[in-house]
Amino acid sequence: MSKVKHSAFKYDFLGSDPKDIQRSVSNHLVYTIGKDPYTATDHDWMMAFSHVIRDRLIERWMETQRNFYRHDAKRVYYLSMEFLIGRSLINSLLNMDIHNACTEALHKLGIELERLRNLEHDAALGNGGLGRLAACFLDSIASLNIPGYGYGIRFEYGMFRQKIENGCQVELPENWLIHDNPWEFPRPEVSYRIRFGGRVMEYQDTTGRRHFDWIEGDVVIAQAYDTPIPGYKNDTVNNLRLWSAKAYEDFDLNRFNEGEYTEAVVGKTLSENISKVLYPNDSSTMNKRLRLKQQYFFVCASLKDILRRFFTDHDSLSDLPDKVAIQLNDTHPAIAIPEMMRLLMDKHHLEWQPAWEITTRVFSYTNHTLLPEALETWPVDIFEQLLPRHLQLIMEINRRFLLMLGHLHPGDMDILRRLSIIDEGNGRRIRMAHLAIIGSHKVNGVSALHSELLRNSTFKDFNSFYPGKIINITNGITPRRWLYQSNRGLSTLISDAIGPEWIRDLSQIKQLESLAEDSAFQERFCAVKQANKQRLAKLILYYLDSKVDSNMLFDVQVKRIHEYKRQLLNLFRAIALYNRLLDNPNANHVPRTILFGGKAAPGYTMAKLIIRLINDVADVIDNDPAVSDRLKILFIPNYDVTTASDIIPAAELSQQISTAGMEASGTGNMKLALNGALTMGTMDGANVEMHENIGADNIFIFGLTTEDITRLNRQGYQPRRYYDSDPVLKRVIDMIANGFFSPEEPTRYRLITDSLLNNDHFKVIADFKSYLEVSDRADQVYLNTAEWNRRAILNTARMGYFSSDRTIQEYAEKIWHVKPIR
Ligand SMILES: *Cc1c(COP(=O)(O)O)cnc(C)c1O
Repeated sequence: MSKVKHSAFKYDFLGSDPKDIQRSVSNHLVYTIGKDPYTATDHDWMMAFSHVIRDRLIERWMETQRNFYRHDAKRVYYLSMEFLIGRSLINSLLNMDIHNACTEALHKLGIELERLRNLEHDAALGNGGLGRLAACFLDSIASLNIPGYGYGIRFEYGMFRQKIENGCQVELPENWLIHDNPWEFPRPEVSYRIRFGGRVMEYQDTTGRRHFDWIEGDVVIAQAYDTPIPGYKNDTVNNLRLWSAKAYEDFDLNRFNEGEYTEAVVGKTLSENISKVLYPNDSSTMNKRLRLKQQYFFVCASLKDILRRFFTDHDSLSDLPDKVAIQLNDTHPAIAIPEMMRLLMDKHHLEWQPAWEITTRVFSYTNHTLLPEALETWPVDIFEQLLPRHLQLIMEINRRFLLMLGHLHPGDMDILRRLSIIDEGNGRRIRMAHLAIIGSHKVNGVSALHSELLRNSTFKDFNSFYPGKIINITNGITPRRWLYQSNRGLSTLISDAIGPEWIRDLSQIKQLESLAEDSAFQERFCAVKQANKQRLAKLILYYLDSKVDSNMLFDVQVKRIHEYKRQLLNLFRAIALYNRLLDNPNANHVPRTILFGGKAAPGYTMAKLIIRLINDVADVIDNDPAVSDRLKILFIPNYDVTTASDIIPAAELSQQISTAGMEASGTGNMKLALNGALTMGTMDGANVEMHENIGADNIFIFGLTTEDITRLNRQGYQPRRYYDSDPVLKRVIDMIANGFFSPEEPTRYRLITDSLLNNDHFKVIADFKSYLEVSDRADQVYLNTAEWNRRAILNTARMGYFSSDRTIQEYAEKIWHVKPIR
């Protein structure tokens, strides 16, 4: 369109007064949705209103992108398989500062914003913590005016919806795109060809230099969809670009000509399967070819797009590390390292050394777990079939690395075996973490303890070989979504007390400390919590038809169901408390509701059994009138960002009880403490730093430390000894094992009790006693309302460090070397 007269091209900057918004809503209802008020459904109004917000996002988006080009800014690219964004409507209008205007405009039309908000689907393109971290990071990057882009996959089916039937988890498909998604802009012109299979051709150029080219195989098209990400009241709108798989246009023309029309169409749907569904495994891997295809698919499209943008203003690849930083969120996108080498060498004809130098200066890698089952490895032969050129490049990266390592440790074959990218032990597998470490200039863990363990045990040898490469950057959460949006009552109370600056700069929230002793403030703080509890109780009554007494202590454990997170330990405590109520009905018990929430990976038998046990225990207690007014267990189904936003503001106690050394950081722990819940936690992940910041008196720490566990394992851990010597524990386990909670099938939970008594890898039994003790200490404090409120206020006041703004500032300074653009 070279004839377009830019001077003649003018568009409206849309107003943000209630009047303007009211007019825009009406216009969109007619011109976009094609309805009038006589025929419009709630959903139509929601879509019309979302388009009003979308318009205001896109004008700021364009201005922001033009500004980045004008400044020739260094950009950071966050590559992540998962982005667990949740709903966008309220987030957008609060961040763009048009919430009040919108409420007023809708009110004039006779529509309640609250009603529209509940019609929006969660964008659930993630499993849990890792995906939610990526979403918090996008919010912080935009809020700090950093030129940043998210890159991922536009899964057609997001994280499954969880239903509970007869106590068991049932998975339902999450077809979130079935209604139009107003938050995305399809970019059909931004598309790339992605190759799989084929073979590597070698050739010589006129100077006699050898080159390689990857040819033939199957081609799939990656097509871009852009989601605008607004910063907090700064008019910056960044971009999240997600790739969708489309069949290559000339698909199987040969077949087509032979008249095999249907076969050709089947081939089309097969290639479009790549972006069909998110794998629902958290903290474990599956060796599915399709999963590797997903990884390469989005990485290849993203790198091509990044280089295309770079070449619009630059022509020398040696400048790439000054203009581009790429962060790998876990090893899922680690294939980007050989892919970058391939592009630099095979497409741009750089030699190995300069290509490798550029690659390592561009990439950095975040490790998210020490669990062996979560460290990705791929069989060499899958690579050989799908990505033959990448396999060659990985072998060459490894050969050169082992050569250097060998010089440093002559004769030490063992260290070569340990650090090699290829694991020769289990039928030749590619260790993606080793590839990511070798190909990055910085590797980071996500909490002080986790990074320490990376340096001193898991990647000890790498740390000696690359001193200073492995650093710590403790995770954080965005205070916008997790306090300002989800807890409006507390937000208003805080802003009334110390002004609204904390929303932009969470370190300001420490000013609340001086109010912790103020009894009037304590009462207001407590009243907000009470209102949030009542709101949650109402939701539970409405959606689950279950009565929760909002005068009870709300004791919350919400997160993925995993043995290492130890929902079982919490449930054992619940059963022990139940027994106490039976034995001693007249003692001064703290009435409590223990809320559980979380999804189990569909193939994770033990996790699903734990969900069933929680529901069986909940049933027995509900139906026991001797206790049901003082103890309630409830499993809240389908834990996602929206339910998290409803539950967390109402929580008083937060259960963060993973086996020490197993939770890399946790971010749920941060959300709950920021909202004034007191933590019962082990010395694990970021709990350690929360303990340091919040103060030992204001957090309930218990249980074995990582050192204790190492010692215990060395001595030989015998869970049966604890069982034999602790009658409280024995009674709990016996009840489960003998079918007290499953009389219709007494052996239902033998898998659980046998595994605990014979092995108990996660030390549930060893930590039970100290857990029960610390729970009792928490109850003693809860009986003193003023003291509890004082500590709750101090929790909120001392969480400033855990803002993802602080986290992103550290990434920007220590790894990316990017600066804000205003
Ligand atoms: C924060 C969050 C998580 C992570 O919780 P952890 O307690 O850190 O495991 C998982 N799922 C959702 C929906 C979240 O919002």
